[in-house]
Amino acid sequence: MAEERLTLEEARTLAFRCLRANGCDEANAGAVAANMALAERDICSSHGLFRLPWHVHSLRTGKANGRAKPRLETLAPGVIKVHGDRGFAPLGHAIGRQPLIEAARRNGIAAMAYVDMYHIAALWPETEALALEGFVAFAFTASLPYVAAHGGTKPIFGTNPMAFAWPRQDRPPLVFDQASAAMARGEIMIAGRDGHELPENVGIDAQGRPTRDPKAVLQGAQLPFGGHKGAALALMIELLAGPLIGDFLSIEAEEDDAGAGAAPHGGELIIALDPRRFGDPQGYFDHAEKLFAAILSDGRSRLPGDRRIANRERTKKEGIAIPQSLHESILALMKGPDSRGAPA
Ligand code: NDP
Repeated sequence: MAEERLTLEEARTLAFRCLRANGCDEANAGAVAANMALAERDICSSHGLFRLPWHVHSLRTGKANGRAKPRLETLAPGVIKVHGDRGFAPLGHAIGRQPLIEAARRNGIAAMAYVDMYHIAALWPETEALALEGFVAFAFTASLPYVAAHGGTKPIFGTNPMAFAWPRQDRPPLVFDQASAAMARGEIMIAGRDGHELPENVGIDAQGRPTRDPKAVLQGAQLPFGGHKGAALALMIELLAGPLIGDFLSIEAEEDDAGAGAAPHGGELIIALDPRRFGDPQGYFDHAEKLFAAILSDGRSRLPGDRRIANRERTKKEGIAIPQSLHESILALMKGPDSRGAPA
């Protein structure tokens, strides 16, 4: 596949200019472009520039608001809400981060309910940013109905990612960030684009039959990871990012979309815990390191997040590569709203 090499700054600028050409103001374009550059830096390609066409489509269909002005509301001493004003998630995150940190410092624990946002990003940047400030953090968001309930055949749950971050001394936080689907939808789309078969148990076709064909899975339903256990986590995330905070379930986000094909519209719950206010304020760092050392001791395991951290060192020096076809699509989208903007 022909590729285009970019520095991280070129990737960020490309995203920024494309979003500006499609109706985003500086604040919204800047926040999304910075978030995409983080994904590209860590080689999380399914949430980097690859998602730009879907952002543009969401703007051009009038669903996402490129001039959103997210607004904060305090609901309780440890519960804050950010009303996203139909904007993309990264600007809401930027506005909510400091108030969440301050509330978690005051109370030992605090939650941020983000509502009315278009979320097409990975969750690790949010949790990692909190862990860099010394917090243990969780994040959950629902999306659009792509994943069947355990034993079911029609899509009910979103791919519903969850992320967890743990602070470490003198090194990046430990972070995992995973969809509750067996495979993230972006990865299935990339497999379809590149003509690759999927592993077993990733999805079913529109008739409910197991298939390894990415295009058939995109027409049918994805499966949760780990059978009924992954399905239970997907269910929990629907409840936390939907009814708990007063936003859409994935099936409701699809109704809201009304066939526009825009990104998922809904909410996200982020929880921050201050480990200095729990049971072992002196010992928690070293105690956790004991576990990490045990995991790594056989030389065969790695910690979640290690791949990203290693990638970020490399891409800072070498830059990134994106498919030339994606680069060309982005350049075409920069010519304005008459060019093609539908998602891949
Ligand atoms: P992966 O299955 O690729 O990885 C999940 C986690 O497992 C990562 O933290 C990864 O760390 C870790 N991991 C992977 N392999 C190993 C290993 N061998 N040993 C230890 N840890 C390992 O992620 P998904 O495909 O499930 O999700 C990809 C992204 O998609 C996520 O960032 C998620 O937030 C995003 N997403 C966003 C959605 C949205 O609506 N906004 C919907 C669904 C997904 P590492 O990164 O270091 O490999």
